[in-house]
Amino acid sequence: MRFADLARTFDALEATSSRRELVALLAEALSLAADDELQPLIYLCQGRLAATFIPIEFGMADKTVADAIGVAYDADRAAVLRRYDTLGDLGLIAAELRAARPSGADRETAVGVLDVYTRLHEIAQASGEGSIARKVELLAALLREVDALGAKHLVRIPLGRMRLGIGDPTILEALALAHGADSSLRPTLEAAYNRTSDLGLIGRTLRTDGPAAVAQLTIRPGNPIRPALAERLGDAAAILARLGRCAVEPKFDGFRLQVHRCGDQEVRIFSRNLEELSAMFPEVTEATLRLPSHEAIFEGEVLAYNPSTEEFLPFQQTTRRRRKHGVEALVAELPLRLFAFDLLYADGADLMPLPYTKRRERLAALLGDRERDALALAPAEVVAEPEELERFFEQAISQGLEGIVAKKLDAPYQAGARNFNWVKLKRVSAGRLQDTVDCVILGYLYGRGKRAAFGVGALLVGVYDDERDEFATVTKIGTGLSDEEWRTIRERCDKITAPQRPARIFSRIEPSVWVEPQVVIEVLADEVTRSPMHTCGMRESKLGYALRFPRLISFRSGDKRPEDATTVREIIGLYAQQGRRTA
Ligand code: ATP
Repeated sequence: MRFADLARTFDALEATSSRRELVALLAEALSLAADDELQPLIYLCQGRLAATFIPIEFGMADKTVADAIGVAYDADRAAVLRRYDTLGDLGLIAAELRAARPSGADRETAVGVLDVYTRLHEIAQASGEGSIARKVELLAALLREVDALGAKHLVRIPLGRMRLGIGDPTILEALALAHGADSSLRPTLEAAYNRTSDLGLIGRTLRTDGPAAVAQLTIRPGNPIRPALAERLGDAAAILARLGRCAVEPKFDGFRLQVHRCGDQEVRIFSRNLEELSAMFPEVTEATLRLPSHEAIFEGEVLAYNPSTEEFLPFQQTTRRRRKHGVEALVAELPLRLFAFDLLYADGADLMPLPYTKRRERLAALLGDRERDALALAPAEVVAEPEELERFFEQAISQGLEGIVAKKLDAPYQAGARNFNWVKLKRVSAGRLQDTVDCVILGYLYGRGKRAAFGVGALLVGVYDDERDEFATVTKIGTGLSDEEWRTIRERCDKITAPQRPARIFSRIEPSVWVEPQVVIEVLADEVTRSPMHTCGMRESKLGYALRFPRLISFRSGDKRPEDATTVREIIGLYAQQGRRTA
């Protein structure tokens, strides 16, 4: 497949506002790819060179890419950057310059997808002294071999700004369609995705070995497993009525980690959204290498912890580790402890099908007695009565924790699923929703008065419909942000504006500016109401659901992808629970 053809598909994907068309276009491109092209093509569609959990960094900032464009098309770097100020997209500038050359846009070029993919790898791998110049040279050479559309999409890859608007479930749907299968293949693909998190691997296996081989793809240390998630219930009695006798664990307000010990030398650590963060937690790596199993995958919540006062520090302190430099100094200044709560794999055995009680026994045996270590077993207690559960809850709150997670004793670990195997219960303030909601920014409305200075008057935000892989609007946020927050939001949004409604956004409200659904924010609201304007829940009934009196609590893009935001189903659940509470 020529890169020029793929670029044409990318362009059509970017332009469509129809999700059905998105799937059809993608499926067509996937079916046209040769066997050896399919896996690279899937990664390129994700704007990447490998599965999302493999950290490949291009190390090319806007200015370096502008340099490459200048070198490729004999333009002055300053002129490229000036034009960038106007257009805000280096892809468009590359396309413009390419088209303006004598052998311009209509000259078809033959460079293949595989060739582009290999050469992009080479660019990413260039490191050490002189590597920036080398990257510029390599990208410039490649830019000279593609047509205008190719140039537009090519430069966006190292910049990490593909703007294709496709989520992983859409790629899975397109894979099934390209395979000529009916919807019965979806559960097999989804289950394999939940176990391996690697769409390229799934696509290649499906193409070369068929669906039975996809069903056989097993978990492997080094490939993150999509995390199991918790549902919500309003009180202790509701939890016991639903789960029966169950275990309760404190809900730590830290950072969820999935730790993979891959043999005797290597430990890989992944965040909740499957990003590799190994370098940030050296003490967790060391402690894991001291465990008796050679291979293991376990999960826990890491948080800043003061061992002398046995105090847990707030989430913001823990997240200071999310940076690349100065980790060593922070290890001493801000010790962390990982409270492990589940064991998914050990020495060749997939433990996910075992009941919670058995996994927990295995986890306790694996960790042994390591009170002083960076690894500890999360406390747990089995309860049968609401009073016992409440006592555990109050104790957690008094230690400065968020609440509890109740766990069904006989439940397996269900990768990627949010269900009642785990139920969270948090402290609720009167007149507030039972939990914060993670929303995705979908657009903004221009501001008036003082706010006009930031150009944002209100944000249009939505939640995720995981059945349709789309975002439905749930509220507008117009108050409660500091000047600094408005400025930050404007800056972030300006990098991801969309010329028309992105295909995965379902909205009845037309904001002044659409943005790609990427930025996740945590929002606290007073209640969920029915709404004729907001589309959350409108696929199911005429009236939608909306959040009343929303305010921004934090930015969550660090640990959540847009697809990890609160779902439409959860909002409907919150609405139902609130009805019960006030009844
Ligand atoms: P929240 O925004 O409430 O942290 P979330 O959307 O990140 O929730 P949920 O599924 O709603 O995820 O809640 C489960 C989360 O709680 C887990 O992802 C994990 O990070 C955290 N957690 C803390 N303590 C525990 C525990 N003992 N067992 C399971 N998860 C725990």
